Amino acid sequence: MTQIEAARDNKITRKMEAVARAEGQHPALIRDRVLNGTVVIPSNIERDITNLCGIGTGLRTKVNANIGSSLGCEDIKSEIDKLACAIEFGSDTVMDLSTGKNLKKIRKLILEKSPVPVGTVPIYEIASKKMASKKEIGSITVDEILSCIEEQAREGVDFFTIHCGVTKNALKQLRNSNRLLDIVSRGGALISTWIVQTNKENPFYEYFDEIVRIAKKYDITLSLGDGMRPGCLNDATDRAQITELVTLGELARKARKESVQVMIEGPGHIPINQISRNVEMEKSLCDNAPFYVLGPIVTDIAPGYDHITSAIGGAIAASCGADFLCYVTPSEHLRLPTLDDVKEGVIATKIAAHAADIAKGIKGSQELDNAISRERKKRNWVKQIELSIDPKKAKQYRRSSESAPKNVCTMCDEYCPIKIYDDSTKKKDDVYHAIKEGL
Ligand code: SF4
Repeated sequence: MTQIEAARDNKITRKMEAVARAEGQHPALIRDRVLNGTVVIPSNIERDITNLCGIGTGLRTKVNANIGSSLGCEDIKSEIDKLACAIEFGSDTVMDLSTGKNLKKIRKLILEKSPVPVGTVPIYEIASKKMASKKEIGSITVDEILSCIEEQAREGVDFFTIHCGVTKNALKQLRNSNRLLDIVSRGGALISTWIVQTNKENPFYEYFDEIVRIAKKYDITLSLGDGMRPGCLNDATDRAQITELVTLGELARKARKESVQVMIEGPGHIPINQISRNVEMEKSLCDNAPFYVLGPIVTDIAPGYDHITSAIGGAIAASCGADFLCYVTPSEHLRLPTLDDVKEGVIATKIAAHAADIAKGIKGSQELDNAISRERKKRNWVKQIELSIDPKKAKQYRRSSESAPKNVCTMCDEYCPIKIYDDSTKKKDDVYHAIKEGL
């Protein structure tokens, strides 16, 4: 029985209860939102996940970290270290985006070791096999696609990115557009190549019912991919992107009808003034399905700092209603992320998600800020550091300060306004009490 089927039978599952507990919500609310498709709980029946998470309306904004090898960088150990790092800094899910010959080994290890839901993009494995045997992408068969999806489902993958919206029609819109960067999604580029080489419709679109059948068997969440996402500000919110989004909305409806959970992936690179419009369009065209955005990156001029450009976009998108932020690391557009890049990416995205949660009024978010502010008022650095998002870094900074042992910091030193005000009000209080007690 899938989560949606259970909800339809009015049942509250163990997974719904776990999500409700983590969010401080009533389990019936989670059940109702799973049923109407506004919340998903990515969790394959074949895998026991310690840190289950719900994604969607009214819940804390979730963060995903992409890990995995590339053809040029196939160090298995380093990818497992990245998994541990992403979890340590609070990633709610991870996606294994491996390509290359060690792809299966890496996925198996990630599935074994990850306490959080794991997502994959099956077309990467299918294309990697073709490329290894020097065959054309157009030689991929429907059977190869379905058997790869089934195999990954059996292994326990919790959510799949399926680029089912890259249709012939979307490609026509792309050709008529004035894009600077055409296609920047790996899945999107592979499928458009398949369409061009075979002159047939996208098999992920044509055989969507078969994919839904597999997803249903393992209660896998489908993440409908944005192969037409804009790769630069110039290309944002154009016909190709919106044509794909309309298709994703129709397919999302189909999946839910079959009791399969579904979320929608979104852009990409968008100017700040287009973010709210993009979120509204997704919500209205996809019946409020959870929106999973990559960034969005709000300016193209900052290679090396794209964890910042995307955190700005992520905070705005989530405050407008996006539910799930895919991290971007400082190495975006430059190289495969290192361990440090993963840490920077997760922390920047967690900050964006938390800032948005305050704006969304998510239960308990502002309390975290109030707790640290109370300690700041007391000038209690031990507690402030304990409550901070990256205690190690905060401690390092504090320790490197000359005034570390004092009750101020080197920023203002003896002119610390918090201390000055505290001292002055304390004196006034002393005088007041002295008068009151007739001294
Ligand atoms: S010295 Fe300035 S920066 Fe440091 S705690 Fe006081 S007010 Fe804040």
